Amino acid sequence: MKGSLFVVLSVLALASQISGQACPTIVTRAQWGARAANTAALTTFPPTHVVIHHSATQGCTTQAACAALVRSFQNFHMDTNGWADIGYNFVIGGDGLVYQGRGWGRTGAHAVSFNARSIGIAFAGTFTSGLPPAASLNAAHALIACGRSQGQIAWSYRLIGHRQASATACPGNALFNHIQGWLNFVTTP
Ligand SMILES: [Zn+2]
Repeated sequence: MKGSLFVVLSVLALASQISGQACPTIVTRAQWGARAANTAALTTFPPTHVVIHHSATQGCTTQAACAALVRSFQNFHMDTNGWADIGYNFVIGGDGLVYQGRGWGRTGAHAVSFNARSIGIAFAGTFTSGLPPAASLNAAHALIACGRSQGQIAWSYRLIGHRQASATACPGNALFNHIQGWLNFVTTP
């Protein structure tokens, strides 16, 4: 009896992994106070790449502070850079939450030549010599696994750091070293 219960629980756990039920909570645009924006659909779908960034700004540790920071990214990207919206598809706060940027299925403005075929994920903060909190790293893993299981990211996606796409220090030396141990990291984009 105990044996069969174990089998049932194992099957349920496996089913939950396969169906991606571990999708993280995503703070919606309405919840962080996004401005309205129109962005183009990805031209390559599902996208073949995941590009990791840091925002190279201060970080945040509460939902209120992270929401304000994400609003500041959107303002900078729209008003100073003249972009259609916040550049990233998603932002990961130091509070461990995922903030929807352009979201799934949209072309971003974060990595030249990869925008129309990737999902850009930025960790809020500067990670040249330290890493995001474990909760934030876990949230990014969960977001990627969720997107992959739901067909929003190609199953055989290639994960890179922004510096592999353009001449930039992004996502910071410490974070770049760290993501080299992540699933599907590739040295050649
Ligand atoms: Zn970047």
